[in-house]
Amino acid sequence: MKGVKSKIKCPDCGSEIKYTKLQVGDILECSECGTEIEILSLSPLKYRELIEEK
Ligand SMILES: [Zn+2]
Repeated sequence: MKGVKSKIKCPDCGSEIKYTKLQVGDILECSECGTEIEILSLSPLKYRELIEEK
């Protein structure tokens, strides 16, 4: 688990969101659509889309 590069598929637009290091609670942002994804678990990898209410 050191220096591993990987990616997550955006749940909204399907683009790949690349990351180099993850921790539970991290927020990733899709560069295509701006969707934010919160990391819930690393093993197995689980995440959820953050929905902003405005
Ligand atoms: Zn996206």
